[in-house]
Amino acid sequence: MASPIEIGSGDRLFVLTGAGVSAESGLPTFRDSNGLWNGYRVEEVATPEAWIEDAEKVWRFYSMRRRDALNCEPNPAHYALAELERNVGERLFLCTQNVDPLHERAGSKRLFHMHGELFRSRCEAECGRPEFVDDGIYETAAAIPRCECGARIRPHIVWFGEIPLEMDRIYAELDRCTMLAVVGSSGTVYPAAGFVEWARRSGARTIYIGPERPLNAVMFSEVVLGKAGEVLPGLFRVSKTQ
Ligand code: NAD
Repeated sequence: MASPIEIGSGDRLFVLTGAGVSAESGLPTFRDSNGLWNGYRVEEVATPEAWIEDAEKVWRFYSMRRRDALNCEPNPAHYALAELERNVGERLFLCTQNVDPLHERAGSKRLFHMHGELFRSRCEAECGRPEFVDDGIYETAAAIPRCECGARIRPHIVWFGEIPLEMDRIYAELDRCTMLAVVGSSGTVYPAAGFVEWARRSGARTIYIGPERPLNAVMFSEVVLGKAGEVLPGLFRVSKTQ
């Protein structure tokens, strides 16, 4: 068992989660399935080119992921992070690369989805209509809804090749954190894979948690090997004099 990590009253914690945090809930990670994602190649379903080429296939894929996400539950790792937030309040910033809703279902509130959200959609033409909550299942071209402006509705997902959301806010949080914990991310998808370097530059302690060393492991001050659901509960000890 890893020794607890003390969070003192002056600490600010930035937690980045990747697909691995949801693996024990039954949602497959991307890397662990040999580059295939629920049987699809990423370029076929998660790029702007795929949307232009075959929007029906893209929506079939995200409809399947919506169904999968509805059929699973948060695991102890999601609950541990929600509890940590209750203990340290606004000194925790939870940033997830995941599009599933498991962190919020576990009770996390100060949470940011840098790659978008599975249960939101938006206008493909960015006509000004904000993104909206959507749990629809669209499996044929005819079923794809239209915006009031006439353009098609697309998933509110940051596809490979697109820029993650609100990077300025994320870098501001990285600048002021004293600790960065990355959970279940292979360290291959940028810019998230570069957060550890950024946080180190401002002197933060950096910790990786996952069953195998990520590609950017050398950048971390500590690597805690193990499944998130087994390691995270009890990993952080919040000082009583908060
Ligand atoms: P990744 O698939 O590249 O890597 C997953 C990582 O999780 C691996 O390093 C693996 O060792 C680790 N892992 C596996 N089981 C774990 C466990 N029980 N506990 C902790 N770690 C575990 O994921 P990525 O680095 O997040 O990057 C891939 C991109 O695809 C990201 O944008 C990611 O969010 C997205 N994605 C999202 C979901 C989701 O929303 N649930 C699922 C798959 C992929």
